[in-house]
Amino acid sequence: MTQENKRAAIIINPAKPVDFDVRGLMAKHCADAGWDEPLWIETTKEDPGVGQAKEALERGADVVIAAGGDGTVRCVAEVLSGTDTPMGLLPLGTGNLLARNLGMDVTDIEGAMAGALTGEDRKIDVVQAVRSDPEKEQLFLVMAGMGYDATIMADTNEDLKDKVGWLAYVDAGIRNLPGKPVKANIVIDGKSVAHRRVRSVMVGNCGKVQGGLEIFPDAKVDDGLLDVVVLAPRGKLGWFSVVAGMIGKGRGKDTSVEYFQGKTVEITFEHPDDYQLDGDHEGDTKYVNMTMLPGALTVRMSAPADA
Ligand SMILES: [Mg+2]
Repeated sequence: MTQENKRAAIIINPAKPVDFDVRGLMAKHCADAGWDEPLWIETTKEDPGVGQAKEALERGADVVIAAGGDGTVRCVAEVLSGTDTPMGLLPLGTGNLLARNLGMDVTDIEGAMAGALTGEDRKIDVVQAVRSDPEKEQLFLVMAGMGYDATIMADTNEDLKDKVGWLAYVDAGIRNLPGKPVKANIVIDGKSVAHRRVRSVMVGNCGKVQGGLEIFPDAKVDDGLLDVVVLAPRGKLGWFSVVAGMIGKGRGKDTSVEYFQGKTVEITFEHPDDYQLDGDHEGDTKYVNMTMLPGALTVRMSAPADA
């Protein structure tokens, strides 16, 4: 053959339990598509995907497939964003939030494999997040948060998370109630929209969290907009008013739950609080600056069944 065959690189988290022959199946799909043997690169605790994705690009991969959970996906996306190389998704995690938000059937592993090689390319938004002390620039794809929601992520029992998925977060949420409010200033597109005590600020790129629960009912992964929700339980009803506000999608007069949209958001807290990106606790911070990068990442997958 004169033409060089295509090759996929798979960034795999070896800590995720799989009960099938992932390497054998993937090799079969590559052969079926007329591609070369895939390149496998394993993540480590010290480097959960960034170094591996860079290596895949250097070795000329035609598609880089993130095989793991949302943490692996986020690290691979950090490297592929702004390049022309597409990212494939092989969901092996608990939440698989990006895959679900893109309408993938996360139980159809073979469909995911085939789609990552020969599916359609789709451009999605990513969000750049720059935090303070230590200053660190990262990306997220689904949602980020400061305050109570991040406390939940930090406190979630890992074993429980493997067994019951996102129910574990609910368990942690109950144990953390009611939490202490913190004085915050939230600036969207250069304008202060909230300057008061809050308990949590969440920023979304997509809407779905788990089992169809939508924290950001209007969020779309390719509309160039960030969705921001500010949670501030207060008064006698406290968290009940927050839940009611979320069910009512923030359309009432109550400021327990407020929704905003914009292209940049700057969050400043009076003191450091828990911080999370796509469900991974990233320690404490008192300041973060988030910027929408519209259509910065190309994802390759089969067209969703419901599209
Ligand atoms: Mg959006």
